[in-house]
Amino acid sequence: MTTKGRAVVVGSGITGVAVRKHLEELGYAVDVIDDSAGPVPAAEVEEILTGAQLLYPSAGVMPTHPAWAAAQRHDIPIVGELDLAQQVSDLPIVAVTASNGKTTITTLVDSMLRASGLKSVAAGNIGYPLIEAVKTDAAIVVAEVSSFQLHACRSFRPPVALWANASPNHLDWHGTFDDYVAAKARIWTNQTSDDYAIANIADPVVMKLASETRGQLVTFGPGGDFRQEDGALVMSSAGIPSRRVIGVDDLPRSLPHDIDNALAALATAHCAGADLEASAQALRDFGGLPHRVELVGEAGGVRWFNDSKATTPESVVAALSGFDSVVLIAGGRNKGVDLSILGRAADRVRAVVAIGEAVAEIDAAFSPGTAVAKAESMDDAVTRAACLARSGDVVILSPGCASYDWYGSYVERGADFTRAVHEVLARTPASEKGPDGAS
Ligand code: ADP
Repeated sequence: MTTKGRAVVVGSGITGVAVRKHLEELGYAVDVIDDSAGPVPAAEVEEILTGAQLLYPSAGVMPTHPAWAAAQRHDIPIVGELDLAQQVSDLPIVAVTASNGKTTITTLVDSMLRASGLKSVAAGNIGYPLIEAVKTDAAIVVAEVSSFQLHACRSFRPPVALWANASPNHLDWHGTFDDYVAAKARIWTNQTSDDYAIANIADPVVMKLASETRGQLVTFGPGGDFRQEDGALVMSSAGIPSRRVIGVDDLPRSLPHDIDNALAALATAHCAGADLEASAQALRDFGGLPHRVELVGEAGGVRWFNDSKATTPESVVAALSGFDSVVLIAGGRNKGVDLSILGRAADRVRAVVAIGEAVAEIDAAFSPGTAVAKAESMDDAVTRAACLARSGDVVILSPGCASYDWYGSYVERGADFTRAVHEVLARTPASEKGPDGAS
């Protein structure tokens, strides 16, 4: 095969490996820089990049990684997965971004499209590389896109693009909230009047950027094109009576953020060609995703929930809004954001068990009004929570932080919590277990 020259891929996670394969198919000789066994020295990075034609930094690679600066010094184009994927085929890519709710909304939009008879596939940040999804025989791809991926894109132009909400996240990576927001806004930058830009009418940050988009604006939320009205989710267009899509009572989950996500997904799927009735059925069938306010078990009148995926304080506040009396297990590695907003939910929190590196910040967010215990391990946290909880309480692991201080991922953290809870529940006398004896 004729070579196009040399490309450098930083990171060998699932997407890094897929991009490497893609670049090789395009005719590049590919070098990989991988820091998993310890950071590759800057001089070595410089040497690898010298004379390269292209740099692909995987999503999590910090802008402080020497590869970014070396690429700039040597004038080497930096390409992201979104641009690469869109060059592969004309397959329509529906892009979904948000600070909270990306995976949930992506899953919903994909199932709404499939329920409508379209051959859809969910990809991107959700775990299936977009660069692979665009090579399948799918008719449409729903891509969960992160701020990291958007930061690296230049030409990406999705025909349908949702930005569902904005709150500080990944500031350890982006540096400032303005830079984070600027990265997110790239989801709309290259759209034209043929494309749809879907925005949360209740989010001032999103709406400010939406006012600059050239795409056709479709909104969701109070007073928006897709909204809650008279106990139902409805679609409304100027001059036409609202069309009822589904009753709120028919939604398996209806916390305020569940309703927001359902409306965002309805609007996005509708713009991508989904049928409203089929979309309503997809909502009826949606039981939620693991590690997101997931019921683990019940004993002694106490329900235990795993919300390990809540890695921002906003997602913790959203989860707590569904419960009246909570023992909260929170903490981990702060992603550079202000955790004090957790205090907004303090009236629902009876006690807190703080874990991981952010113990002091969790303590500061709740003390002195709410008791904060400190735990040395997940077993310790669960045991302490079991002692603190009373009948009628909910115990929830909703960390508001990343997991990397103690675990490799939020999935590992949620699994460890679930195991520890099952061990505690197994020690609970049967008479104290829930109505179905579940643990
Ligand atoms: P993301 O992919 O953006 O991390 P997920 O759908 O995986 O979002 O959900 C992550 C966490 O955020 C979960 O704890 C979930 O309950 C919470 N969450 C989901 N949607 C929202 C929303 N619209 N607003 C606030 N929190 C949300």
